[in-house]
Amino acid sequence: MTTPLIELKNIRKSYGGGDSPQVDVLRGIDLSIHAGEFVAIVGASGSGKSTLMNTIGGLDSDFEGAILYEGKNLRDFSQKEMVNYHKKSIGFIFQNFNLIPHLDLIDNVSIAMTLSNADEKTRRGRAKELLTQVGLKDHMHKKPDQLSGGQKQRVAIARALANDPDVIIADEPTGALDADTTDVILNMIRDIAASGKLVLMVTHSDKVASHCSRVLRIDQGQIVSDQEQKPLEI
Ligand code: ADP
Ligand code: MG
Repeated sequence: MTTPLIELKNIRKSYGGGDSPQVDVLRGIDLSIHAGEFVAIVGASGSGKSTLMNTIGGLDSDFEGAILYEGKNLRDFSQKEMVNYHKKSIGFIFQNFNLIPHLDLIDNVSIAMTLSNADEKTRRGRAKELLTQVGLKDHMHKKPDQLSGGQKQRVAIARALANDPDVIIADEPTGALDADTTDVILNMIRDIAASGKLVLMVTHSDKVASHCSRVLRIDQGQIVSDQEQKPLEI
């Protein structure tokens, strides 16, 4: 296979210690993941899935071991490289959408591009393009609370794609959606991986995981199985 986009080497993380009891949340995670993979991360609540995603996404730097992005250790990133990693390499999608309630959809998406060099007009133009792509052309001037759950998640997908990142991290993106809406959102996320990005998706559902090209099972902070499935059709 090609060079991994991201490699994890013996990632460990604990909470507590000292006076409070120590909880080992990640217990030696080794992993190589590649562009174009659609990876499901499955495991019981509390098994460490979100912690692992936040660590990979650079939201949490308090861990042991190494994360390599395109072969470079995140710890060796300059401050500027780390900002770029957050804003341009990784796009996040969350279960509860994390939209900004007082902004309309265009601003909710274009705000993700504030660190890009593009001017306001270009950013708004790209936001409109992305919202159209996710099927929200006629809703762009609405606020999030005027949308259904599925529509909110479409906005979040548009926002995650705003800077054309190489990696999408989706933490239970369908967790708050009904079955029909889950299928629609899942197909959209799958298409993102089929377009060549690396997609990591946390899910509770084996049915959801069955749509992915690879399934990692996590139990108590360790990868207990790593299954290749059918590659994505492009
Ligand atoms: P998952 O996403 O698989 O449900 P998490 O990664 O959110 O699991 O949490 C893994 C474990 O880490 C849980 O036992 C949780 O209670 C613990 N944990 C998460 N965040 C903290 C924190 N800030 N302080 C202490 N323990 C935490
Ligand atoms: Mg979680």
